[in-house]
Amino acid sequence: MKKELLEITSQTRALLQDLEVLGLHELLGPVQEVDPRHLPPCPLDVTGIDRGGRVLCRQETLDEIRAELEDCRRCALCKGRKNIVFGVGNPHARVVFVGEAPGREEDERGEPFVGEAGRLLDRILFAMGLSRAEVYICNVEKCRPPQNRDPRPEEIAACEPYLRRQLAAISPQVIVALGRFAVQTLVGNQSPLGRLRGRWHEYQGIALMPTYHPAYLLRNPVGKREVWDDMKQVLKRLRDA
Ligand code: URA
Repeated sequence: MKKELLEITSQTRALLQDLEVLGLHELLGPVQEVDPRHLPPCPLDVTGIDRGGRVLCRQETLDEIRAELEDCRRCALCKGRKNIVFGVGNPHARVVFVGEAPGREEDERGEPFVGEAGRLLDRILFAMGLSRAEVYICNVEKCRPPQNRDPRPEEIAACEPYLRRQLAAISPQVIVALGRFAVQTLVGNQSPLGRLRGRWHEYQGIALMPTYHPAYLLRNPVGKREVWDDMKQVLKRLRDA
């Protein structure tokens, strides 16, 4: 509905502008300069700019998205969770790391990647010359699956719109997808991770680098070499941007 209203507003404005070009100035009142902070947040998939280049709405903030998730009951994972694990880090990060779902420690603390896999992710960040405060870290799923089982398609479907909005709000230069679930969700295909990783993809117009999950590296340390190759590509992209 909001999207339709914005579309109608945009069309009407474009029509009035066309009429102005034809000489019908009196139809257009004085242009009102609006403080962007007072504009409504854009609905998903709306750019917020009309054909005349006028700003109709602003990008929503991470706090607004987080507020919508408060006490979320959109899938069965709400029953077992202690905390919603929304994400942490710089809301204007140039690079966002997206994992699978919170584990036990993340669920306890309400923060992503604070367990053993998180400590390995911290070491990867350190090797890249980055800190947790500089980047943004979140998961596809915001609630812990029981016994850390794999997320189910309906749980991913319920949560993915929030990830999309998070990534749109941050608008980073690079997204790093960690592990099969994040990669397949963001790339939008079910190919094996070994085939998808190490090559650039795109998500909402943002460069996306799939790589192995730190938890996988804890079990298969030989994969660290490939992850480091992938992270070197990320660093190069950030340097060249
Ligand atoms: N694994 C994930 O995918 N995410 C976390 O937050 C922790 C472990």
